[in-house]
Amino acid sequence: TNLDHSDAVVVIGLGRFGQALALELMETGAEVLGIDGDEDIVQSLNGQLTHVVQADATKEETLRQLAVPQFGRAVVGIGTDIEASLLTTSLLLRFSIAEIWAKAVSDAHGSILEQLGVHHVIYPEKDMGRRVAHLVRGRMQDYIEIGEDFALVKTTPNAELLGKALGDTQVRARHGVTVTAFRRPGQPWTYATAETVLHAGDTILVTGPIRNAEAFGQLS
Ligand code: ADP
Repeated sequence: TNLDHSDAVVVIGLGRFGQALALELMETGAEVLGIDGDEDIVQSLNGQLTHVVQADATKEETLRQLAVPQFGRAVVGIGTDIEASLLTTSLLLRFSIAEIWAKAVSDAHGSILEQLGVHHVIYPEKDMGRRVAHLVRGRMQDYIEIGEDFALVKTTPNAELLGKALGDTQVRARHGVTVTAFRRPGQPWTYATAETVLHAGDTILVTGPIRNAEAFGQLS
């Protein structure tokens, strides 16, 4: 192949998760080798990824033939078949691929992946469930945790933020959060300053420690 392997990504297991990830990587300009054991999946992705190959990823010889050891980044999207996930991941680790991401379908699966030494273990369903819980309870339109103790919330300004300069609302002192940016309908996102005056209908991005951001997101 003519891939620049050090910068390309190999995505193994093209189920719902792997497929979405591989297509998004293509969208952002990366070169992607997709591998899946299912012929129909491989056929449906033909032409949408740089290369897509039907193969059993648990076979060392197969991965070597596909030049997988030369990749700098690999993602294992195999979930349901935990044995296949673990076998594939341990081969990638043996190849000393610099950055490996692997999907876990349960805490037990995840802790084995972590014990193997996988650099990044992802829990898509658990993480999405936790994230949506924050949206269900409050007025928040989006909620993203950044590390263990910080969060970014997309929401609308509550009553105490409306009609006066942000600096005069004392929002940081009162609630321990910072209004980072705002958007007026039909306009682009703009950084908020102490002089910014928010109106009903605006959307804001708020950052702060999780507890503060969460509490602030429930205020109306
Ligand atoms: P999702 O929930 O994201 O759809 P699944 O775990 O159901 O994830 O799908 C994983 C994908 O991995 C499936 O498309 C399956 O064909 C593929 N897969 C499973 N085992 C192997 C293997 N040994 N080699 C290659 N692909 C595999």
